[in-house]
Amino acid sequence: MQTNFTAEQLADPHVAEAESILRKCVHCGFCTATCPTYVTLGNELDSPRGRIYLIKDMLENGRPADEQVVTHIDRCLSCLACTTTCPSGVDYMHLVDHARIHIEKTYRRPLMNRLTRNMLAMVLPYPGRFRLALKLAALGRPFAGLFDQVKALKPMAAMLRLAPSKVPPASDFARPATHAAASTRRGRVAILTGCAQPVLDPGINEAAISLLTRLGIEVVVPQGEGCCGALVHHMGREEQALDSARRNVDVWTRAIEEGGLDAIIVTTSGCGTTIKDYGHMLRLDPVYAEKAARVSALAKDVTEYLSTLDLPISESKGLTVAYHSACSLQHGQKVTMAPKLLLKSAGFTVKDPPEGHLCCGSAGTYNIMQPEISAKLKARKVKNIESTKPDVIAAGNIGCMTQIGSATDIPVVHTVELLNWAYGGPRPKALDRRASV
Ligand code: SF4
Ligand code: SF4
Repeated sequence: MQTNFTAEQLADPHVAEAESILRKCVHCGFCTATCPTYVTLGNELDSPRGRIYLIKDMLENGRPADEQVVTHIDRCLSCLACTTTCPSGVDYMHLVDHARIHIEKTYRRPLMNRLTRNMLAMVLPYPGRFRLALKLAALGRPFAGLFDQVKALKPMAAMLRLAPSKVPPASDFARPATHAAASTRRGRVAILTGCAQPVLDPGINEAAISLLTRLGIEVVVPQGEGCCGALVHHMGREEQALDSARRNVDVWTRAIEEGGLDAIIVTTSGCGTTIKDYGHMLRLDPVYAEKAARVSALAKDVTEYLSTLDLPISESKGLTVAYHSACSLQHGQKVTMAPKLLLKSAGFTVKDPPEGHLCCGSAGTYNIMQPEISAKLKARKVKNIESTKPDVIAAGNIGCMTQIGSATDIPVVHTVELLNWAYGGPRPKALDRRASV
């Protein structure tokens, strides 16, 4: 694509990067076919190609974001299906990241939209605040229908509906500690505790730590870890996202210096995609660039790391698992086969639901901020998954698990919970939801 930026504009490294991404797009439109918002809404401006044009026009003309740009960029799930499809290697992720920062700096959103976004940014990344908010939301749930009557309050209704009726107690595994290898030590890793996941489902990291230690891996939960910054990064709040990244880079650098790390294990793939991008996010920071690149290189999805450990073949569990491939794992990190191969080796029959490339509509805070599109994608996803007639659904991202779990009676578990069970750990509690499983 031809671009017309001035030399002065290109002196800004962020604009220069956006320009080099834009130049790679050849307008072919292959990406439209796999874009969930284009497939759902049928509007070119809700396709990757349409958004690329909008971003180009806004940046080239040095214009503040307007309502049209904001509407269509806000509808983008950042699922990155377009990057998997694009034959020209257009780095849509960094382009839309840049557009979101530009929007945040130059556009004043309507009051309710601003308040909702501020609240999400102030609550979700902090487990204590999030836990309290979930308890309050459980009380407010009966009023979700009332909020639905006013367009600006629909995100509140979505939030209330998503809140679980019961919040599990905090897990000891989320506290800073070193979990010793339970057999001959063959590695040392740190694990991200994260923000929302340990509140919504502490059993995931418990399963990961217990499986890894049984396999001879020492697992460190370092003091000072926090939210990876993905939630605010996708809102364009770059300073807040970079602060989170720097804090975690410092924490993991200390852990590397203290005893060495073979990997930084991530059990929420949405976070994994962002941590693998820390090197890029902090590339212009002279103090952090090198340390951040080292951290990104060590970040591994738990299934990516487990597949390096040579696990034994396990006996059949007699269960059919529909594997939901989270967008952040399949498109963001290109981890596609490892989870399925691990599940098969562990004795499960694995099914790939149709349209597996399409997002479930969770996408961080998308199911709160864009409830209508999100609900359509969720219904489509659940129908596709249920068509495989599984006993259980496995996924590697708490956002997808919550989203899908809110629309089906089939138990939804994290991949690592099934693996932990297959290799001697406890049966995932979620399986008790169905007597036949
Ligand atoms: S990230 Fe997903 S929703 Fe956004 S343009 Fe690409 S395919 Fe469409
Ligand atoms: S597939 Fe790639 S090159 Fe083609 S229009 Fe989409 S982003 Fe541009």
